[in-house]
Amino acid sequence: MAAVQQVTVLGSTGSIGTQTLDVLALHPERYRVFALTAGSQWTLLAEQCLRWQPRYAVLADEQAAESLRGHLRAAGSQTEVLAGPQAQCQVAAADAVDTVVAAIVGAAGVRPTLAAVDAGKRILLANKEALVVTGALFMDAVKASGAELIPVDSEHSAIFQCLPIGAQRMQGVSRLLLTASGGPFRTLDADALARVTPEQAVQHPNWCMGPKISVDSATLMNKGLELIEACWLFDVTPAQVEVVVHPQSVLHSMVEYDDGSVLAQLGTPDMRTPIACALAWPERIRSGAERLDFTRLTGLHFEAPDEARFPCLRLAREAMQAGGVATAVLNAANEEAVAAFLDRRLDFNGIPAVVEAVLEQTATPRCPDVEAVMAVDALARDVARTLIGERVGAC
Ligand code: NAD
Ligand code: MG
Repeated sequence: MAAVQQVTVLGSTGSIGTQTLDVLALHPERYRVFALTAGSQWTLLAEQCLRWQPRYAVLADEQAAESLRGHLRAAGSQTEVLAGPQAQCQVAAADAVDTVVAAIVGAAGVRPTLAAVDAGKRILLANKEALVVTGALFMDAVKASGAELIPVDSEHSAIFQCLPIGAQRMQGVSRLLLTASGGPFRTLDADALARVTPEQAVQHPNWCMGPKISVDSATLMNKGLELIEACWLFDVTPAQVEVVVHPQSVLHSMVEYDDGSVLAQLGTPDMRTPIACALAWPERIRSGAERLDFTRLTGLHFEAPDEARFPCLRLAREAMQAGGVATAVLNAANEEAVAAFLDRRLDFNGIPAVVEAVLEQTATPRCPDVEAVMAVDALARDVARTLIGERVGAC
């Protein structure tokens, strides 16, 4: 087995971050925590610091960092507390770090994740938005630095596991079949969708996730972001990715080969499985997830997604086909629309409507660097906020 791995967890207080720490806790002989980072949740980060004694803890929010610093000092902790986005990059790229778990939500994760990529780390990618926003720039940076990119998203982990190890990974692959649970509103009609609440949207039937990805799962934007993620990770076109709705979330995605063979990965819906898989790959370690009991499965159901009721999937596919920074615009508009929905400033069907309108109103050129992409991201957010304000005014 390899030497002890030093791990930075970006977004350690979130759903993926806490589950990552749960898996690390099962393997103290393999992993040490170098740094933990979060946005503003300093009380949970304080608990994590006292448990894990990392070298650094970072909060994006300066005030929260001050509170954490005082708390840890009083508890006699040696952990150094840093603040601000630049510090998140610093602990992702530090020489001592082997593995970075990219688990910040949204485009806020772009720069820290890219810092880890540029430093040639082993990156466990949960933060799909980072790849959706920067696309080709992200993958070029991976090639240039020799970073190792391993998916954590359950669907991409499944595909990754169904491909052979080695340089010829995609040889003979005809299609990737991305499964989707369909979310909590799979069977609702458009009128009923207009009335759903944030509380209903974050109640995912199979997975316990952060609020943003839960809403994305309900609109099917999550599957759209994952389609884009799959295109970059596995170097395929949108036409080579088919989305299949599978409400039980037992089969986590499939690879179809030219000879007609289809390989699938199965397991209980528990993110600790793909997290453990990514941490130890190509070795296998315990994750703590419940085992699949085939005798208790009551049937696996599959159906096509309904893009009329859930237009976000189509919008994401079209953005990927359009190229340039269209996927960054899609993501920025979606982040703003989801935040407005969670804040009750936008109805559920307003999310795809805002995303589509922002894509129509924003130029999506090819951008030479991340600065230029983030400038377009900021512009798209301005357009989205204006449109959301107008929709509220029209209600
Ligand atoms: P979450 O909301 O539970 O956690 C997000 C984490 O990011 C928190 O630690 C938060 O403090 C941190 N954060 C938020 N804003 C920040 C900022 N500006 N700067 C620094 N840190 C910030 O989200 P999650 O459900 O854990 O999802 C994280 C990522 O993983 C998302 O990109 C999501 O799409 C992806 N993902 C999640 C799941 C899941 O089951 N939760 C599954 C697959 C992929
Ligand atoms: Mg997923």
